[in-house]
Amino acid sequence: MPIQNAIEIHNLSFCFEKKPVLEGINLSFARGKFHTIIGPNGSGKTTLLRMLARALEVNKGMITVNGVDLKTIRPKNLARQLAVVPQDSTWEFDFSVLDVVLMGRTPYLSRFATEGEADLAAARQAMEMTDTWRLRERSIISLSGGERQRVLVARAIAQQTGIIILDEPVSHLDLHHQITLLKQVRELNRRKEITVLAVLHDLNLAAAFSDRLIVMAQGRVYCQGRPEEVLKPEMIRKVFGVEVAIIPNPETGRSYVLPKL
Ligand code: ADP
Repeated sequence: MPIQNAIEIHNLSFCFEKKPVLEGINLSFARGKFHTIIGPNGSGKTTLLRMLARALEVNKGMITVNGVDLKTIRPKNLARQLAVVPQDSTWEFDFSVLDVVLMGRTPYLSRFATEGEADLAAARQAMEMTDTWRLRERSIISLSGGERQRVLVARAIAQQTGIIILDEPVSHLDLHHQITLLKQVRELNRRKEITVLAVLHDLNLAAAFSDRLIVMAQGRVYCQGRPEEVLKPEMIRKVFGVEVAIIPNPETGRSYVLPKL
């Protein structure tokens, strides 16, 4: 039996007001792997993730999640399979941090039910992993961008799905929290075989944590593969317009990108 991919994208295209933003995307995300999408601003990364999260409708091509057409999956059922950490979101209501993380448990509650002990335990574990338990009584509005980002990751972890999608999850974090958070996501990925799909801007973090990189440029998949196959000076020159040298990280052997400044 072939291994079923967690997500498959077949011939997907998307336009905003007739302007093509994604064109002919074909991608497979293997179960239990850590995938990172890289690419310059405006290359369609967020649009692709928003389609996976069903925030934008697929009208050309197809996406399957665990082998089922995304369009046919009921919202609650989808939320048990796939959690999304959006780019920094705006909060208009004054929820406590704990309430925000408990929202991750909604797909498991029957109508009108409130969270039980198991839900609180799942939330607490996710919050301890992301260093947000101590913020639990704070208002989400009062947090810094980096704290809020960690809370949104905690909510996704508390959702206990087989797939986690993260859109620039470390963009507001300091170096310590960037590395800690990505290590924890990788730990979940390795220990529980959670499929991870992230957008990262930092090519060195992408190289350090990912099993596979997907490079997007101008709405298309430019190339993909293992980090050491993908990260080449010529690719970075063509896609990002930057001259770099690539050396093996002396500690890990993973590719390390050094811009020629
Ligand atoms: P990335 O995440 O790679 O920076 P995006 O997916 O955000 O790229 O954007 C891809 C293209 O789609 C950009 O040219 C952007 O201006 C355009 N775009 C994104 N959102 C909208 C929108 N709501 N309306 C019109 N154009 C949009």
